[in-house]
Amino acid sequence: MSRASYLFAAFPWDLTDEGPDAALARLAGELGVDGVTVAVVHPGIHELRGRPLGGRWAFRCGAAAHFQPDAPRYAAARIRPITAAWMKSRNPLEHIARIAERERLRLRVSIDPCRGRELVERFSHAACMDLFGEASDTRLCPSNPEVRAYIAALAEDLVSNYPVEAVELAGADFGDPSQARSLADSGVDLPPADRVLFSWCFCAACRQRAADSGVSAEAAAAVLQDRLAAAARLEMRDHATFADVIAGCPELAAYQRVRAESVTSLVRSVKAKCPYRVVYLLDGDLTASGVDPVALADACDALNTSFDAGHRSTELSAGHGAVLRKSVEVRLTCRPPLAPDGPALVARTHEASQAGFDSITFENYGLTPEPCLDWVRQAVRYARRETRH
Ligand SMILES: [Zn+2]
Repeated sequence: MSRASYLFAAFPWDLTDEGPDAALARLAGELGVDGVTVAVVHPGIHELRGRPLGGRWAFRCGAAAHFQPDAPRYAAARIRPITAAWMKSRNPLEHIARIAERERLRLRVSIDPCRGRELVERFSHAACMDLFGEASDTRLCPSNPEVRAYIAALAEDLVSNYPVEAVELAGADFGDPSQARSLADSGVDLPPADRVLFSWCFCAACRQRAADSGVSAEAAAAVLQDRLAAAARLEMRDHATFADVIAGCPELAAYQRVRAESVTSLVRSVKAKCPYRVVYLLDGDLTASGVDPVALADACDALNTSFDAGHRSTELSAGHGAVLRKSVEVRLTCRPPLAPDGPALVARTHEASQAGFDSITFENYGLTPEPCLDWVRQAVRYARRETRH
């Protein structure tokens, strides 16, 4: 059986506060993981740590880039990284990369480039827009050419300037219904499938992409207006699933295909810039986010999904990886409540390693209470021992 890699996801501010030398030496030595995934573009956090790091329990930061961008790479772009204030003039990623190399830890970077209030405030012209023309205040649209150029420049910057083995891309899609502003105070009791449909983006860039593919965004929008009117007359009680609604309506099916292709081609363009592994993190409701896992797997090197109990509805199994001829990686939370105790984490890690996933990432170093770090140490040792047999 092939041996899985074990990674720990970590925030650069947590590594910096703890002291990157001590933190990475601990990850490599005591915990025995193979690598670290550092979040370098993050949608914003109000963190209560699992243990104090550098004497501090809390950390807060809006949507930002947590490395010093290589400015010329963004010269032609209207959207540029917002540099996190906590770094001051330092470049923590450079420091972390150097120590990771010394500790023989593989370095990955994760970028979550479309989300975050501060990002959308600054580049509001590229925000997702709902059916009613209301701009999202939390999400940039992945169909927008400027957003796509920004994401490609980010990937290029990171793989050119740091010794990374992989880029993990998260949330470079349309997100889920919770961010549609017009649904927050809806007077119409929309069925779940329609809540997803009404979160769809109809910005100018999405409409243009549709038109370029011979698909009418206006026809899809008209269907949604009709469904809304029917729901407002209390005539829509069918509660069909999202898949049923799409299957029964060619206008919506065509627009959904355009959305999925927008995400897939964006990931493909990142892969074209990146000589290393590109991994796409799947999260939440895949139909809502406009993601087609099979096409997406073909556009990058691996899909990464949650392996936590209770979050299995959108999981891809290792079997999917074989079908897709691509690897599927998983992430595991290593603290309560999802991992209630050490034996539970050991068992779950063992299960993931036996299922043939080739990479298992623990979430997340700075959020993990001290006792749970020892659970990770045990889980990695046990899974490695069992895999050798
Ligand atoms: Zn859009």
